[in-house]
Formats: sequence, structure tokens, C-alpha cells
Amino acid sequence: CSIIGYLGVSSAAPIIVKGLKRMEYRGYDSVGVATFSEHQINVRKGVGKVLEVNKTAKLDELSGTTGIGHTRWATHGMVTDTNAHPHPSSSGEVAIVHNGIIENHEELKKDLQNKGYTFKSQTDSEVIANLLQYNYDKTREIKKSITDTVSELKGSYAFVAVFQDGTLAAARLHEPLIVGISKDGYFISSDVLGFVEYTDEVIYIDNKEFVTIDNNGLKIFDFNANPVQHSITKVSKEF
Ligand code: GLU
Repeated sequence: CSIIGYLGVSSAAPIIVKGLKRMEYRGYDSVGVATFSEHQINVRKGVGKVLEVNKTAKLDELSGTTGIGHTRWATHGMVTDTNAHPHPSSSGEVAIVHNGIIENHEELKKDLQNKGYTFKSQTDSEVIANLLQYNYDKTREIKKSITDTVSELKGSYAFVAVFQDGTLAAARLHEPLIVGISKDGYFISSDVLGFVEYTDEVIYIDNKEFVTIDNNGLKIFDFNANPVQHSITKVSKEF
């Protein structure tokens, strides 16, 4: 129901947990965080409220300065720890959080299973992770893996992905996505409340656009891979 990503100089997990807590008013049944550190992606998640799951699973103790987080409002697949996001791909080189519904998830899942990709959850969302992985395996190019993936996904989504080289990427179709820019790093979320205590400088990503964020900065593209320029908007901090 809420997604958030962070890449910067600070420890990502505590920032993500705080952001998810602030967005609790949107409602949810499960919560999870994944961070990138020491060349790997680590996931912790579970059913329950942010602070409850944090107490048992220690979400905010994951190390790394890049990460993603999610609160889930289940639409496909029961409310279980396994169905909570983030979802890693079967080889674990990419993990995603997703808001929305992937309408053609059954066909995509069958197709990916035939190609040898395996699934752990009953969610529609896990196909995004394996489809990104499949497309990434073809060229090892993150930008291309995203344009190939979004050309196949039907439905509505905002997703944030973290790749095994530490790159964050996010895309949107009929679900909101907002980038926050501060001197200490980049935020990406479905809601300004996810990062409002750190910055009031935001970029509203348009429908059918995606972003990549790495140590060289933020890049925005449309779904045809053309670069897009957006101006920075100042939001009110009076929340
Ligand atoms: N459809 C996805 C699921 O059931 C995402 C739901 C959400 O937006 O939280 O896991």
C-alpha cells in the first residue's frame, strides 16, 4: 500500500522504517524492508504493524545505505510472511516492492517458470522481480531491463527495485511515485509523507515514466527510454 526507497550517505533501513510508520494511515497488513550492502540484497519482512514487525524482525538493523520498504494491502495471495514485500527474484540479484495489481501475472508467471525462474509467494507482485531478472539476464543493462519489463506488465503499479550493483530503479503506471532530493540522498515514495522530514524538494514522476538512481545521480525516462526533464517542486512541510 506504501512504497519507499532510499539511496544516500545515511543508513537506509531506519529512514525506511520511519517513512513506513508515517504512511501507516493508508492502511496495511504486512511490512518489509530490503537493503543492499556488501554486494548483496537482504530482505526482512512479516505480517503485522510496522513497530511490531520491527521488534521481532529488526527491520531497521539491516545495514547498507541503499534500500526499499513496503507496507502491503493484500490483493493477490493471503496475508502471510512470505507474501509480504519485498520480493527478491529467484536468483536474488534484484528485489522489488510494488503497489497496485499486475493483471497478467498468471501468464507471466507460467512463462517465467517455463524459463526456469522460481516463485515463493502467491502474490501478483513477484512476477515483477523475476521479469526484471529475466530481462536483466539478457543484457545486464538496468535501463533496458526496465523498458522490457514495463512493456509486458499490464495493470497498475508503482514499483521500486534494488539491483545487485546497488542501483535503485522505480516505475509507475496509474499509481503515484514521487522523488525527494536532499543533500544526503534520494528518496522515492508513493507519498511525500514517506520522506517529508528530510526534504521539501520533490519531483513528481509522471505516468509511464521510470527513474534510475545510483551514485552518479537521478535519471528520468519515459517508457520508450527517452530522457525526461522535470523541475523540482517545493512542498509545504506543514504536515
Ligand atoms: N497486489 C500486491 C499484493 O497483493 C500489492 C498490494 C499493495 O499495493 O500493497 O501483494
